[in-house]
Amino acid sequence: MPGRIRLRRTTVLYWTVLLYIIAALVWWFISLNQQNTSMRDFQIINLRTRVDSTAHPLLYQQELSRINNHRDRNRSKYIGEGSIFFLLILVGAGFVYRSVRRQFRLQQQQQNFMIAITHELKTPLSVAKLNLETLQKYNLDPEKQKKLIRTTLDETARLNFLTNNILISSQLESGGYKLSSEELDLSDLLKDCLQDFRNRFPEREFYGDIEADAAVTGDPLLLQILINNLLENAVKYSPKETPVNASLKKNSSGIELQIKDQGPGIPGDEKKKIFTRFYRIGNEATRKTQGTGLGLYLCRKIARDHNADITVTNNEPTGSIFAVIFHT
Ligand code: ADP
Repeated sequence: MPGRIRLRRTTVLYWTVLLYIIAALVWWFISLNQQNTSMRDFQIINLRTRVDSTAHPLLYQQELSRINNHRDRNRSKYIGEGSIFFLLILVGAGFVYRSVRRQFRLQQQQQNFMIAITHELKTPLSVAKLNLETLQKYNLDPEKQKKLIRTTLDETARLNFLTNNILISSQLESGGYKLSSEELDLSDLLKDCLQDFRNRFPEREFYGDIEADAAVTGDPLLLQILINNLLENAVKYSPKETPVNASLKKNSSGIELQIKDQGPGIPGDEKKKIFTRFYRIGNEATRKTQGTGLGLYLCRKIARDHNADITVTNNEPTGSIFAVIFHT
């Protein structure tokens, strides 16, 4: 059954059960209260037969107020217990509602991930296969051969990037990845990553404003994956003719790494969501760019493991700024 129909059915069932429970609670309160009033009336009739109100007015009044007090105490007890019960039902219902919705969302995102991943793995493999077959079949001139080899290498780099993301995120998730803790120069690492991107995308401009000797303690492979993911997104989600800017600055609170692009930017309400696993903006069927929704999730996980925060803000006049602040 498609996820949406199942979600709708579960929602209808949930609200029906919840409304039934609340109605039963209200009915329980009304009937107890009625019982309480009937009991009071019965006790008053009983009192009238036992005590003559004109002969013993004081005794009669005392008994009457005792009966009324007893009725009021009972009513307060029902209201108190009923309210606590009602509150517990609401808290429980809220909790169930949130976790069921989260579960459905995750399931939907996992489905999207499976669609995306199949496509992402197939495309570079098909391109590389086709290129190699062409090279094998035809005696091409050296220039064409070089071009085919370069696109094949690009595709294998993409495949490598993708499998690394999947592997590392599942290892980090399961606790199977052993984080190394090395003294390393983030300035050098960023410069190397930028150079890789310049080689991979010669038609694009990459600017680096990198302060030297920014030392951090951490896992070089993970930090490289973090930087590469941010650069990859900046390239992927901005027009070819716009530059990508990387900067690294040391300040009093630590070291700040920024990757800026001049793409369409990220809408305010999506800014938080993009760091969740498998989350991609828009609909899988209508989305033009390729991706798995793992990149930023991995970035945030790596940042947290390195005592760093990752944020996204708007670039001026357009685009995004991803900032990673390493607290030292
Ligand atoms: P992927 O790129 O594989 O879809 P990510 O986790 O890296 O997954 O990014 C999640 C989503 O955030 C992307 O699908 C995209 O919609 C949005 N996004 C990420 N980086 C940028 C960016 N620099 N500019 C605009 N949108 C971005």
